[in-house]
Amino acid sequence: MTTPDDRDWLGSGTPLLEVRDLVAHHGQLQALDAISFQVGPGEVYAIIGANGAGKSTLLRTIAGLHRPTSGSVTFYGSDVTGMRPERRARQGVVLVPEGRRLFGSLSVRENLQVGASYGRQGPWTIERVYETFGWMRERRDQRAAQLSGGEQQAVALGRALVANPRVLLLDELSLGLAPVVVQLIYGLLPQILATGQTVLLVEQDVSQAMRVASHIHCLLEGRTTLQGRPADVTAEQIEAAYFGLNGTAAARLPHDGGSVSLWPGSTPSFRAC
Ligand code: ATP
Repeated sequence: MTTPDDRDWLGSGTPLLEVRDLVAHHGQLQALDAISFQVGPGEVYAIIGANGAGKSTLLRTIAGLHRPTSGSVTFYGSDVTGMRPERRARQGVVLVPEGRRLFGSLSVRENLQVGASYGRQGPWTIERVYETFGWMRERRDQRAAQLSGGEQQAVALGRALVANPRVLLLDELSLGLAPVVVQLIYGLLPQILATGQTVLLVEQDVSQAMRVASHIHCLLEGRTTLQGRPADVTAEQIEAAYFGLNGTAAARLPHDGGSVSLWPGSTPSFRAC
């Protein structure tokens, strides 16, 4: 894939990442049903939804770890749907998987070296990760399995950052972590964005997603139930989209246009766009 210069791309107005009509299965079970969206450069795009909504399947499909049944993933204007995950990572699509998935018997430093080995050159180096997470340098020789959950999440994030992603896919960063640790990790987002990254994240914690996202996209049983900017959606709309309370919040939608579309499969009178 020819990769245009990032600065030219930023000015082109073309989405960095586009998912079109993505359908994915696990065996007979349909996990994603015609999911479509675009992510622009520098955005923080949040996928929200309850357990089993299809969020991880979506991220894994974008990262190339799950083969879709149909639909496409376009990155930097090129169709990468059939591209192997290692190649995608080299192009700048890098996943922090749910549950961290560190190499527990390797040291912190070795885990970071793995990230650096499959990624691109760029502003993020192992040294920079040590500077960002103050405690990490002096514990670089400790085995990853000996770290706390929050420390492991920081190493998983560092491992992705040293690959210098163009789009960083974050799957449930907050899972199993104390709120104070979650705040620390999410507090790094501005610093990450300042190095030219775009972020696509999955969160079950809706208020956390609403705090950091420029756009939210709710899934329910593999379908899109809500898309919009956080400022344009109400708590009731999100609750309805998240839990599938069709006919309650949907009926309270404003009819003055806007960027919110609730229940895309419902009748036009229940849609705001
Ligand atoms: P969670 O927040 O619990 O991780 P999720 O929104 O990320 O949920 P997925 O993990 O993508 O949802 O799962 C979507 C659906 O696919 C669920 O019904 C789940 O049980 C099923 N599923 C996920 N992975 C597999 C798998 N490896 N084999 C079979 N079914 C799977």
